[in-house]
This record gives sequence, C-alpha cells and structure tokens, in this order.
Amino acid sequence: MSDCLFCKIIAGEIPSKKVYEDDLCYAFYDIDPQAPTHFLVVPKAHLSGPDAVTDENSAVVGHIYAVIARLSKELGLENGYRVVANCGKDGGQTVGHLHFHVLAGRSLAWPPG
Ligand code: 5GP
Ligand code: ZN
Repeated sequence: MSDCLFCKIIAGEIPSKKVYEDDLCYAFYDIDPQAPTHFLVVPKAHLSGPDAVTDENSAVVGHIYAVIARLSKELGLENGYRVVANCGKDGGQTVGHLHFHVLAGRSLAWPPG
C-alpha cells in the first residue's frame, strides 16, 4: 500500500525507533506514548485493521502475540502490560494498517474511556 503510513515505516521510508523485526512483523515505539512503555507491533504484509483478519491470514496475529510475550520478558514488563488493537471510528483506529499497541509501566484504567 503506497499511501499507508505504517507500510512506509516498515519500508524505512519514514524513520521509527525499532524495538524488534522479523520476516513477518515489525515493532516500533509509538510517536505519542500513552504509557512509560508504548510500542506498536504490525504485520509486514498490509492488512487494513482487525476487521481484515480472516482464517487465511490470521497466523500472523498468533505470531505477533508470541513476539509480544517474548519482548515483554526482554523489556522487563514483569508487572504486566496491555495489548490493544483499535478497529474503526468508534474503536479509535486512526491508522489503516493492523497494529497492536503494547502499553506498560503504569497501572492502566479499565474499562477504557
Ligand atoms: P490507532 O489510533 O490507529 O489505534 O493508533 C495509531 C498509533 O500510531 C497512535 O498511537 C499514534 O501515536 C501512532 N503514530 C501515528 N503516526 C506515527 C508515526 O509517524 N510514527 C510512530 N512511531 N507512531 C505513529
Ligand atoms: Zn500498510
């Protein structure tokens, strides 16, 4: 997707602070952190959001959760963390490329506002 912000970040056309990368996904710190630790994990293959996940393409979602579990240990998030995937207007999605927020480092309110 040539006009997708996160595709451009994955391609290195827009700079980002990398947390982790492999063949399937890319993780980078959020530009506007909402917690002391706040990074995003995105599939390298463009998917527009959670509502574009199908039985055919969903393996990357499981992979991303495994990556997050590993990174949480490497980054010392032993007090816990939250994984969030916003979808659509009411869900608060502002970038049309599937992404998983990982938030940690403070106690997070529930339910969200
Ligand atoms: P959403 O609101 O779609 O769930 O999350 C999009 C996230 O992307 C927001 O938390 C926002 O701060 C982050 N973001 C938007 N533009 C950029 C950017 O250019 N670089 C980085 N690192 N994060 C961005
Ligand atoms: Zn994209």
